[in-house]
Amino acid sequence: MPHTTPIQAPAFPSRLPGVGTTIFTVMSALAAETGAVNLGQGFPDFGCDPKLTSLVNDAMREGLNQYPPMSGVAPLRAAISGKIERLYGHRYDAEREITVTAGGTQAIFTAVLCCAGPGDEVIVLDPCYDCYVPAIKMAGARAVRVPLTPGTFRPDFGRIAAALTPRTRLLISNTPHNPGGAVWSSADMRALQDMLASTAVLLLSDEVYEHMVYDGARHESVARYPGLAARAFIISSFGKTYHVTGWKIGYVAAPAALTDELRKVHQFNVFTVNTPMQHGIARYLQDPAPYLNLSAFYTERRERLRAALARTRLRLLPCQGTYFQCAAYDGLSIAERDLNEADFCLWLTREIGVAAVPLSAFYGNAFDQKIIRFCFAKRNETLDEAARRLARL
Ligand code: GLN
Repeated sequence: MPHTTPIQAPAFPSRLPGVGTTIFTVMSALAAETGAVNLGQGFPDFGCDPKLTSLVNDAMREGLNQYPPMSGVAPLRAAISGKIERLYGHRYDAEREITVTAGGTQAIFTAVLCCAGPGDEVIVLDPCYDCYVPAIKMAGARAVRVPLTPGTFRPDFGRIAAALTPRTRLLISNTPHNPGGAVWSSADMRALQDMLASTAVLLLSDEVYEHMVYDGARHESVARYPGLAARAFIISSFGKTYHVTGWKIGYVAAPAALTDELRKVHQFNVFTVNTPMQHGIARYLQDPAPYLNLSAFYTERRERLRAALARTRLRLLPCQGTYFQCAAYDGLSIAERDLNEADFCLWLTREIGVAAVPLSAFYGNAFDQKIIRFCFAKRNETLDEAARRLARL
C-alpha cells in the first residue's frame, strides 16, 4: 500500500481558548469509569411522572410531529404565561413575550447573543454557571466577574454597583443559585431594582430552579418586580422541574421589544423546538401540583444528604434552594484538605467512591475555597449508598 499523508484540517485560532470539556461531563465520565456514586452532574437518577411521557406519546401518535411555530406551540406558550401570572402576578403576552427554547442553556446563549456585542460588558456573579462566560465571549463582549459573598453566596450590591460602567449592557443573575444554593430575598430584588433603575442595563435572570426553595422561603422571580421585569429576559426550564433534563425544553419570558430581538437570533440558531414534547408539557402543565410539590419532594432528599454529610468531617453550607448541597472539606486531615478542589474531587471519586464537583469550576480564576458541590436529585438508595461511602470521611 502506498503511504499517504492524511489531509489535515486547516488550523484556525480557537474562539474559546482555554475552554475544555465541562466539569459536569468530566465528573460523570469519571464516576462511570470508577463505579463511583455520581453526585456530581446535576440530574435526577429517577424517572419522570409516567403521565408526562404518555402525554408526549399521545401528541406523537396524534401526528403532532412537524415544525411548530418558531416561538413554540401556542398551548405551551399560553400555559407558561398562565403559570407565571398565577405565581408571580405579571402577565406576559403568550404570543409576543414567551419563546420556547431547547433548554435553559440555549435560552441563555441566545439571550446573550441578541443583546451583547463587541465593546459591551456583561456582569456575572461568581461563582456562576459555566455556560454564561463562554456565551458572552462568543458574542464578542467582555465578561466582568463580580464575586458573591464567600461562604453565603449572597449578592454584595456595593460591589455589583461598583462594576457598572457606561459599557455595561447586561447583568446575569441566578436565584435559586447554582452552585451555592442561595435564594435571593425580596430585599435583594428591590436592591437590584433600585440599582438598575437609572441605567440602561438589561437583566438575564436564570430561574431554572424556581420550584426548589426550602424552609418556607419564596422564589423571588424577577417577574414580581415591574422595574426588573421591564428590562429582563427570564429563563426557566422544564428539565429540572419535571425530572427530564434530557428533553432540553425551556423558555424565555421577556417584554415584546426584547423578545423581538431574541427571536431574531433564535430563529437562525435553533429555529424551532421539538413539537410533541411541547404539546405533552403544555397538557401536563394544566395541573399545578407537580411543580407546587417539588420543594417538599426535594426537602426530603436534601435532609437525607445533609444528615449523611453531618456525620462526616465535611462542613455543611446552607442550602435554601436548588438540588445542590455544598460542603467544605477544610476540617479533614492535612493530606486531603491540602488538595485543591479539583484534585479533592478526583480523590473523592476514586478513593471514596462518590463524585462531586469543585466550586472552582464556577469561578474565572479557579478560586480555591475547599468547597465542593453534591447533587441530591437522587433516589434514596443512591443517597444512602453515597452516605455509606462518605462515612469514611
Ligand atoms: N446544570 C447541571 C449542573 O449544574 C449540569 C448540566 C451540564 O452537564 N451541562 O450540574
